[in-house]
Parts: sequence; structure tokens; C-alpha cells
Amino acid sequence: MPAKKDKLKVLLRRTTIRQRVRQLARQIERDFKGQRVYFVCILKGACIFLADLLRELRLDTSVDFIAVSSYGKGAASSGEVRITKDLDHSIEGLNVIIVEDILDTGLTLNYLYRILQARKPRTLKVAALLDKPARRRKEVPVDYVGFKIPDVFVVGYGLDLAEQYRNLPDIYALPARR
Ligand code: 5GP
Repeated sequence: MPAKKDKLKVLLRRTTIRQRVRQLARQIERDFKGQRVYFVCILKGACIFLADLLRELRLDTSVDFIAVSSYGKGAASSGEVRITKDLDHSIEGLNVIIVEDILDTGLTLNYLYRILQARKPRTLKVAALLDKPARRRKEVPVDYVGFKIPDVFVVGYGLDLAEQYRNLPDIYALPARR
């Protein structure tokens, strides 16, 4: 259970998430039938989504991880993103799906998409569990979206607040802080 002090409210229950992840897996299977897919997980928030998605997929898969940090996070975000942990292997000629926890302003994914596209994958797609369209500042081509959510700060299912709450199986909304 989450700590009482933060007044968390359930936004998406684990059963709802499981069902949607299953649907996304079916969609990916249809799109990549008989092919190998190289999943690029953006650390750390997307790790739980990736783990559940992978176990649903009946496809040939590989996994790699990338970590980024952005300068001036939040409302003052400059859009400058720095890779703090790069992929282990080249993605040239591969079917790549970037796996992200949440698409907010779009600055992170917009940057990462361009960086990875320049490495000449065969195909490059994006899977985001959550999408907050109201906050978008940069367009990102998203192919697989779990849930569109309102402009609330969420935690759980891999998403954190100062490294807390990633382990919660459901997704919770926090009262407005902005
Ligand atoms: P963007 O560059 O799209 O603004 O930022 C995406 C990143 O911001 C996500 O990968 C995540 O780390 C963080 N983020 C954005 N919204 C939320 C949220 O509601 N909750 C949490 N825990 N992180 C968020």
C-alpha cells in the first residue's frame, strides 16, 4: 500500500493495465508477424511495462536499455536531453520499438527518436503506456498507446516520485503540484 501522506488515488487498476498490455502485444504481433523485434526500453520508468509486454509477446525479441536525463526538467524543461547510458548494440537494419512509460511534453521522445532514427534501423516505432496529450510541446509519432490520461502526475507500475512508488502494481494519481 502507498504511504498515506501522499494521498494517492487509483487511476488505473492492475487488471485494466494487464488487459491493455495484452491488446498492445496482439497489435505488435500483427505488425511484426514472423519478424524479430528489438525493444529499446527507456530507463527506469518503462521497465515494468517492458517486462509485462515482453511476456505477452509471441515473437522473436531482443531487449536493450537506454537512459537519458533532461536539463531543467518540468515546466522549465529546455528540451535538451543527454544520453547517460547508451544501447549495447547497433540497431542498424533492425525493427526497433522504443518502450516508454509516459509521454508528457514529448521532449524526451522527440529527441531520442531523432537520435535512434539516425542510426538507420529498418523500422522505428514507439510504444508508450501512458499519454498526456494536454502537455505536449513536441510531436512524437506514437504507434502503440496504452491509455490517454488527463494532466495529472502519476506514480506506480514503474513510475516514481523521487524514486518512490515504482513497485506499486496499480497506477495512482497524485494531487496537483504544478
Ligand atoms: P517528456 O519529455 O515527455 O516531458 O517526459 C517524459 C518523462 O517525464 C517520462 O519518461 C517520465 O520520466 C517523466 N514524467 C512525465 N510525466 C510523469 C508523471 O505523471 N509521473 C511520473 N512519475 N513521471 C512523469
